[in-house]
Amino acid sequence: MNMNNQMEESEASILHTYNRFPVVFDHGEGVHLYDSEGKKYLDFAAGIAVNSLGYHYPGYDEALKEQIDKLTHISNLYYNEPMTEAGAKLVNASRMDKAFFTNSGTEAIEGALKAAKKYAYIRDGHADHEIIAMNHSFHGRSIGALSVTGNAHYREPFEPLMGGVKFADFNDLDSVKAQITDKTCAIIMETVQGEGGIYPAEREFLEGVRALCDEKDIILILDEIQCGMGRTGYYFAWQAYGVQPDIMTCAKALGCGVPVGAFVLNKKVAQASLKPGDHGTTYGGNPFACAAVSKVFDIYERDMILTHVQELTPYLEKKLDELVAKHECAAARRGMGFMQGIVIQGRPVGEVVKKALEKKLLVISAGSDVLRIVPPLVITKADIDEMAEILDECLA
Ligand SMILES: *Cc1c(COP(=O)(O)O)cnc(C)c1O
Repeated sequence: MNMNNQMEESEASILHTYNRFPVVFDHGEGVHLYDSEGKKYLDFAAGIAVNSLGYHYPGYDEALKEQIDKLTHISNLYYNEPMTEAGAKLVNASRMDKAFFTNSGTEAIEGALKAAKKYAYIRDGHADHEIIAMNHSFHGRSIGALSVTGNAHYREPFEPLMGGVKFADFNDLDSVKAQITDKTCAIIMETVQGEGGIYPAEREFLEGVRALCDEKDIILILDEIQCGMGRTGYYFAWQAYGVQPDIMTCAKALGCGVPVGAFVLNKKVAQASLKPGDHGTTYGGNPFACAAVSKVFDIYERDMILTHVQELTPYLEKKLDELVAKHECAAARRGMGFMQGIVIQGRPVGEVVKKALEKKLLVISAGSDVLRIVPPLVITKADIDEMAEILDECLA
């Protein structure tokens, strides 16, 4: 079947919630994808910042196959070894206290919100607390996650959503202060805003929010779903600032392609929030997903993935800065590590993404006018050169 027929057949049965690009991918190898007609693409999108190890990274597939042969699911009524190992590695990498595994980023957000609410409920002896979230944030599509997502267009059709949510401006400490009341139990934000257009938190802002939270016993939830797992050159972006969250959410690259997320609590919240019966999941933490998480951490350590990102970041930034300097429509670059955005002006960013696809380079957009570059973390200088060459043609 040719690609057009495959796309038509897909639209016949799959609910049309995405305007997909006209390509059917068949397999991947390294940092390349191949469509069903055998054409090769350089992947600087990584399945939206998920495939940090690219495709068929040495040791990864083998670990998954081994786990399939043993056990894929057992429920949370029993213990399983991969969950124990994955939990220990996640807690160790974050220097936090306890982890709860979920199936997605959205579910990690749900759990984080519940943990914060429960903490305040135990402390105050009553519910009805408020949460402060950021404008232009993205935390997911479920009702709870949508309630703290700072995008009116995503939220409006589904209102009324969860009550008690107030929005402040990211990187504006005064606007956060203005939303704090006696009822505030949590402040939630991405350490680096992703979907909203690749905005890293400013140091003074993050430190200021942390100080506010300490002063008023407010839970700081940092969403590391996109910017975590090495993307900024640190396991978690907040480690670059030395500002610790009370709760952190992970997903995307946590399993490098296997659907898995987690929320991770510091000791204070872990000891005084969710208790048996308060939260649960059938699939979450299943041995198959956790075997992936466990192997991902092993590979990151063995092959020094964080060091690689740190070493190559200046080169990636230099190549992108050259494009910004050269092309009128590329207005600015911002980002951290391998999470970079180029602001596109005077033409739709979608047009640049489409052109790149035609030239066999995968990049994506963020916000209304940002070209998002979130490659696998294992790219080489040569891959960066090739990306820059193609983008150079696309921006011309
Ligand atoms: C992708 C994303 C989510 C949602 O994760 P899903 O796995 O799609 O549910 C939440 N927060 C951030 C920052 C994300 O990038």
